[in-house]
Amino acid sequence: MFNRVAFVTGASRGIGRAIALTLCRAGFDIVVASPEIEKNEEVASEIRACSGEAVTLNLDVTSPESVKEGFAKTLKDKTRIDVLVNNAGITRDGLAVRMKPSDWQLVLKVNLDGAFLCSQQVLPSMMRNRWGRIINISSVVGQAGSAGQANYAASKAGLIGLTKSLAQEMGSRGITVNAIAPGYIATDMTKDLPDDLKQKMLATVPLGRMGLPEDIASAVKFLASDDASYITGHVLAVNGGMYM
Ligand code: NAP
Repeated sequence: MFNRVAFVTGASRGIGRAIALTLCRAGFDIVVASPEIEKNEEVASEIRACSGEAVTLNLDVTSPESVKEGFAKTLKDKTRIDVLVNNAGITRDGLAVRMKPSDWQLVLKVNLDGAFLCSQQVLPSMMRNRWGRIINISSVVGQAGSAGQANYAASKAGLIGLTKSLAQEMGSRGITVNAIAPGYIATDMTKDLPDDLKQKMLATVPLGRMGLPEDIASAVKFLASDDASYITGHVLAVNGGMYM
């Protein structure tokens, strides 16, 4: 019996790190893929410390060459990728009226183009195996919009369209494609938000707390499991009720 292999982008910290550790505890071998090799190695060491299997990959999802080489190398070394988690993401906030085109483009490039490029590289092998899971980390902001985040909201709404389209294309091949829309999660991405904004956001969360990276990782674990085999094209809100 072999372990399934999960490839997690942006796994060096935050939500991606929690996903990598959670999937490892669920019995997956993990590919820790993000741009900085030392940070990837730290996460891989944590995984190995709890008796899991991890390899690291220097991956920049904005570079088609880096993505192509990274997936080819992984498929050569591990022979299979069963689960792809498109988690890498960035923000470059600002009001649309003043937003620099470069900030618009970079956010779309990392958050949306990156997920497309990674999915495209992994699909042929999943199709051959007639089994696969793609899980895209979208955002509540992609569902509800957010003033000051037109680029980020567009990228995350785009991920939902990508998810539903791939789900339709891949259903007959045994591949499910789903998205998770996290709410307000305690990571580096949110730690520098002004306190008054944090309080305002918290007031909109019926469960009354920020989410933890592990809250998102648990949802990924479920969607990656055999228990979720009849779920595809779904957007799972993990947001404490802040958007219903
Ligand atoms: P984070 O702590 O800022 O981590 C972002 C991760 O993405 C890091 O591992 C980073 O690598 C990686 N990354 C950035 N650019 C990349 C690139 N070009 N290629 C590959 N990897 C790249 O963010 P987070 O809060 O964990 O967010 C993870 C995902 O959840 C993102 O897609 C985010 O949009 C989404 N999300 C977060 C929240 C929230 O409240 N935190 C809410 C909704 C959705 P380095 O460490 O090398 O920079």
